[in-house]
Amino acid sequence: MSDGRRSRAWIDVDAGALRRNYRTIREAVGPDAALIPMVKADAYGLGVEEAVAALDAEDPWGYGVAAAGEGERLRELGVEGPILVTSPLPPGSEARAVAWGLTPSISDVPALDRLADAARDADAPVDFHVEMDTGMGRAGFDWRDAAEWGIAVAGRGSGRLRWTGCFTHFHSADEAEEPVRRQWKRFRDGLRALPVEEDDLMVHACNSAAALRTPEYAADGARPGIFLYGGFTGQGLPDPEPVAAVRGRVNFVRDASPGSTVGYGATHAAEGWERWATVALGYGDGLPRVLGNRGRALVRGRPVEIIGRISMDVTVVEVGGMDVTAGEVVTFVGRDGDVEIPLREVAGHVGTIDYEILTGLTPRLPRIWSSGRAGEGDG
Ligand SMILES: *Cc1c(COP(=O)(O)O)cnc(C)c1O
Repeated sequence: MSDGRRSRAWIDVDAGALRRNYRTIREAVGPDAALIPMVKADAYGLGVEEAVAALDAEDPWGYGVAAAGEGERLRELGVEGPILVTSPLPPGSEARAVAWGLTPSISDVPALDRLADAARDADAPVDFHVEMDTGMGRAGFDWRDAAEWGIAVAGRGSGRLRWTGCFTHFHSADEAEEPVRRQWKRFRDGLRALPVEEDDLMVHACNSAAALRTPEYAADGARPGIFLYGGFTGQGLPDPEPVAAVRGRVNFVRDASPGSTVGYGATHAAEGWERWATVALGYGDGLPRVLGNRGRALVRGRPVEIIGRISMDVTVVEVGGMDVTAGEVVTFVGRDGDVEIPLREVAGHVGTIDYEILTGLTPRLPRIWSSGRAGEGDG
């Protein structure tokens, strides 16, 4: 606890839990599916360098990112295997993707032509995957026209350009099986209409929720993200192990007499005598402001209430009869002792999903990774 990075507020990240969550996905999809852990957005806000160090020990097929710059960063970290860029490259990013040996995904023919130009300029070979839209709608060739665009893509996918994969993305795997089945059928129909041997393509579709709900659709591969980082994937699906804990230190304690008020707008007034602990962490750290007068925190493994509005830099909790002093640790997300505030509780207050809470944690919070091995805590 003498770590200087734990002096104010921080995120504890459990590398062993991340690896065990990966293994849960691995067990669901079986040994043959290639896993492409998604490490976009700085590994869902938790720190891509350490995430990759932990995941490398599980020997994934490759990594998935959303942008060429994220792929470049992985190369700088020493990643040598395939790096799939799952979002379409905005025009102008192609040369960067080629230079760093990334695998772009292609959603239309003009994008493929731009990639071909970049490959020619660099005189470098480029693998690409094709995204097929089966209902997500934000990218991809339409599955209904696969016969036509398939010919255009296959015609260009020779020489420096190699068409090595095809994927789709499920829009409702977190909610139900039926929409996943419908999209899968469209994907299969589209694949059958392509003028290339399916065996020559790596076929992948499942995000975390689909890998757990319909592992039979993991085909050649799956692209899990949120589950690895401890996020909720849907009712009836296994819970991940918590990976991140958001904590801050008490920097001020006062005994508040009846009627005393706290925070902007003075939205909380002490009813009787209360003990207020101010914690050095606020919305400037990514703690959602709507948790004011609504959310919980943990002190010494006990739940306490957040009172008043959350400020940019501090949050106040009512610690009841506890003899809390400055320097004590307060947990706003994650485990403290045997008690846990799950990410989804916080996301629920905000009316959002775990993804947005994680990626909304700001750079002000150091990410402090345990070196945890996968077997730790397995009992
Ligand atoms: C983010 C993303 C994933 C991972 O989804 P999770 O729900 O986090 O498991 C998979 N595929 C694509 C194309 C994505 O953009």
